[in-house]
Amino acid sequence: MTCGLKAGEKLVIASHNAGKVKEISALLAPYRVNCISAGELNLPEPEETGATFVANAELKAVAAATASGFPALADDSGLCVNGLGGDPGIYSARWAGPERDFGLAMEKVNRALRNARTDDRSAYFVCVLSLAWPDGNTMSFEGRITGALCWPPRGTKGFGYDPVFIPDGYDETFGEMDQDEKHRISHRADAFEKFVSWAFEEAR
Ligand code: IMP
Repeated sequence: MTCGLKAGEKLVIASHNAGKVKEISALLAPYRVNCISAGELNLPEPEETGATFVANAELKAVAAATASGFPALADDSGLCVNGLGGDPGIYSARWAGPERDFGLAMEKVNRALRNARTDDRSAYFVCVLSLAWPDGNTMSFEGRITGALCWPPRGTKGFGYDPVFIPDGYDETFGEMDQDEKHRISHRADAFEKFVSWAFEEAR
């Protein structure tokens, strides 16, 4: 049985995205773990070859933990559209092409829904956080938020698919919403809540 994390323990944030490392480190600041990024340790960035969010998050976390000798935390996230059988899913970033053009990615989703001749515009964001130990053990935590897609996109806040996603119970898209509110209800917040309540159980 693997155990949680202790105050002062080193934790590698298995991401080369500086924004993501900053956000995760800030979320973990109250638990006084010693966060270092995969970039700072010059760890190689593995290719996301998994077929699921969990597989991709785990392969990134395991690669960082085994290479560094410290526990490592990785995430994988994306938008799943029910009328498209869960697409773009793990390919959410790739639908934006090499230029990372999310205007194009949102258009692709809307066109695919039109071509599928479906009225089902329900969708959900998923975020999986995986914690791995140097011996290859892992624990994964999945967060979700459900909602519906609108067209055309609305709002300039947020990133990625935010301007077309209206969370259930709201009238505004993630792109229009106050970002503190988004961060309170998002798939990432849900995954983090599950992760910290497990990882720091003894400290609570
Ligand atoms: P990754 O987890 O860094 O691989 O990113 C997956 C992709 O999912 C991102 O590039 C975004 O396109 C999309 N995505 C994940 N979370 C969000 C979100 O909160 N808002 C909008 N798009 C998101």
